[in-house]
Amino acid sequence: MTPVRISLVTLGSLKQPVDVRFLSHWGSEILTIRHGDSVAHLQDSEGDEWSYTDRQLERLLAPATEAEITLGLINAPLEDNFYLRRLPKNVVVLSLHEMAEIVQYENFSLETFILRIGYELAVLFKAEGRIPATGEYSWTHDDIRGCLFDMCSSKGDIVFSLHRPCLCDICRARVLQKCVDIKLLPQLHKELRRIHKTLFYRLTDWIKIHPILTLMLTTLLAFAVNLASSVVFEKAKRAWPWLG
Ligand SMILES: [Zn+2]
Repeated sequence: MTPVRISLVTLGSLKQPVDVRFLSHWGSEILTIRHGDSVAHLQDSEGDEWSYTDRQLERLLAPATEAEITLGLINAPLEDNFYLRRLPKNVVVLSLHEMAEIVQYENFSLETFILRIGYELAVLFKAEGRIPATGEYSWTHDDIRGCLFDMCSSKGDIVFSLHRPCLCDICRARVLQKCVDIKLLPQLHKELRRIHKTLFYRLTDWIKIHPILTLMLTTLLAFAVNLASSVVFEKAKRAWPWLG
């Protein structure tokens, strides 16, 4: 299976660091992410509420020649306050405006967010052979199913498809109708399982859901440690009587 190549282009200051090295080392048979060009200084926005319009972004971001998809990263509002705008020629712009705070508040990293969007775009590209522009047609559904194609009309809904996202049954059926590689869906399932919170935050979430059980386990653990230390001490006393 040939991976979809995504060229990541930073547009202006992102205000927060993005670990592009982590993204470019992400092992995948479905997509590869490489750092493309950067636009150091952005001109002022032309849209309402300091937003960047699609027309402005089209002028700003040229399609990369060495990649199937060009993904621009920006920290500014986009047209209609969307966080993702799909432009012609397989150019897409992802806004971290408000999204960075939403994602990090729920203890996800920006890299997890970018990867999740990367998989959404890669599946769309593999199924359609291109990225349809925003407003042309869309695969997204209003219902929130933890699916790559959840609409997320409320920006906060993104968190439901950041921890081990999936393809819902309807989207799977839609992909299967297209002439995609037979290995795509099993491989996608395998790779999406690797998109999750870090172990520390998974444990924190588990503790929040099971506070009583956590308390009981902590008490049992303390008791076991106490018992084990008593046994060790008794044995040590027998070996070295001067200890007692
Ligand atoms: Zn779906």
